[in-house]
Amino acid sequence: MPKQHVDLIIENASELATPEGGSQKPLVGKQMQALRIIKNAALAVKDGKIVSVGKTASATSAFKATETIDARGKTVIPGFVDPHTHLVFAGSREREFEMRLKGASYMEIHREGGGILKTVRETRQATEDELIHNCKRTLDIMLEHGTTTVEAKSGYGLTIKDEAKCLRVIQQVHKAHAVDLVPTFLGAHAIPLEYEGKTGDYVNLVVEEMIPSVASGRLAEFCDVFCEDGAFTLEQARRILNAGVKHGLRPKLHADELTPFGGAELAAETKAVSAEHLLYSSDAGLKMMAKRDVIAVLLPAASFTLMTQRYADARNMIELGVPVALGTDFNPSCWMESQQLVVAIACRQLRLTPAEALTASTLNAAHAVNRAAETGSLEKGKKADVLILDAPNHSFLGYRFGTNLVSKVIKEGKLVVDLE
Ligand SMILES: [Zn+2]
Repeated sequence: MPKQHVDLIIENASELATPEGGSQKPLVGKQMQALRIIKNAALAVKDGKIVSVGKTASATSAFKATETIDARGKTVIPGFVDPHTHLVFAGSREREFEMRLKGASYMEIHREGGGILKTVRETRQATEDELIHNCKRTLDIMLEHGTTTVEAKSGYGLTIKDEAKCLRVIQQVHKAHAVDLVPTFLGAHAIPLEYEGKTGDYVNLVVEEMIPSVASGRLAEFCDVFCEDGAFTLEQARRILNAGVKHGLRPKLHADELTPFGGAELAAETKAVSAEHLLYSSDAGLKMMAKRDVIAVLLPAASFTLMTQRYADARNMIELGVPVALGTDFNPSCWMESQQLVVAIACRQLRLTPAEALTASTLNAAHAVNRAAETGSLEKGKKADVLILDAPNHSFLGYRFGTNLVSKVIKEGKLVVDLE
């Protein structure tokens, strides 16, 4: 038989490890641990897509490639998907980090004009070009650390004009950068200063003006709400998410991060794609999430940086059949681009195994942003979003930490990072 021509073969990999079979539904329970592992592996790519995953011996007899990468001694895994970032902002908040070190709480910093509202001031003042510049710099670092798809939220504009500005930035950067972006409207991130004591009026603005204009401009796929004591109530969050659904925006929810607030229950009730944080969720709420395949997007780097010593109970979630994903929560108070470091924290603090953490940061994360049909695992027909790690097997994920294990990043078949 003549050899089939392909664009790229990655061959001789010490190991290839990927979640698989979960393109329809996120992986739960023991499925999260059940990676497909191939020793002496090869992966073939044509037109940006994966055409074959298997042993090197069978790949070299079946394919003839324009380009070959020798991955001897290395591990091949899917590109990371980061399903929760507040990508678009200006300025920084290093001063409040020092306040936190001295014991100030999240809400204390918020009340003193720090926190989200400081970033809102600075983001409103920034031009679209400045924000685009910031995002590209962030995405360069994320890509270098192996992240190939990123969910990006608005939420530091909090006016019709500034929210649209941030969402347009996401749209433009998506076109201009190798990393794929998935836009989420988070107009209900905080109550802006000019609406202090008039939260109801701000909710009206979000529901009656922002959501319709975001939807008609096709600026977002998801609608998210920061549902928390001091932010938006359950009732307000429900109203905002339902308004989003009416306009074609699928719900996501910042839920139960700081207090038990009924967020998990609301996420299930509104059929949210995902609920995020979930540090204080009830078992009843988690069971409702499991029933409706609402993905728990866990953000252990946020707990780490807030120094609350409280982490989501991921083992309980996996036990209850809730699909678990991992994200960075990249934002000015958790300025951290690396899903590898998230995996390292998740292994230690959430007691995920490296295999579970890999599933959570690739395929399940892809589900959380509605991209599982095209990325998140190394399977035939999917985008060739592939990492070659300088590690002999996938168990090095999380185990060796604080350095970048990435050797090469391939995005849709193209070599976009080469650190060798
Ligand atoms: Zn967040």
